[in-house]
Amino acid sequence: MKTNNETGCALCDATWGEYYREIENEKMFFCCNICADIFENMVNEVKKETGWDHIDSVELHGNYSMGRNCTATSGENTFKYYFRTYSDGRMMEFKKL
Ligand SMILES: [Zn+2]
Repeated sequence: MKTNNETGCALCDATWGEYYREIENEKMFFCCNICADIFENMVNEVKKETGWDHIDSVELHGNYSMGRNCTATSGENTFKYYFRTYSDGRMMEFKKL
């Protein structure tokens, strides 16, 4: 899965840390396990909301405190949403835009 963060962590683009997690059968780089948890929860939420069986790419804008405005794509389909999480990675708010 591609994200717009191409230099570092798939969620926040930080280049420190070294944490990998397999998401959708693909080894993805994160700065830490919290970012991986957040990303994984987000992926599950998008799939639940859309019924997609996979996601091709996600564009993320925002940060931890403001929340993130995102666009996910799967084939020809796109889905725009906003989400925010608690500091431990659990979902706080998720809404379709
Ligand atoms: Zn990160």
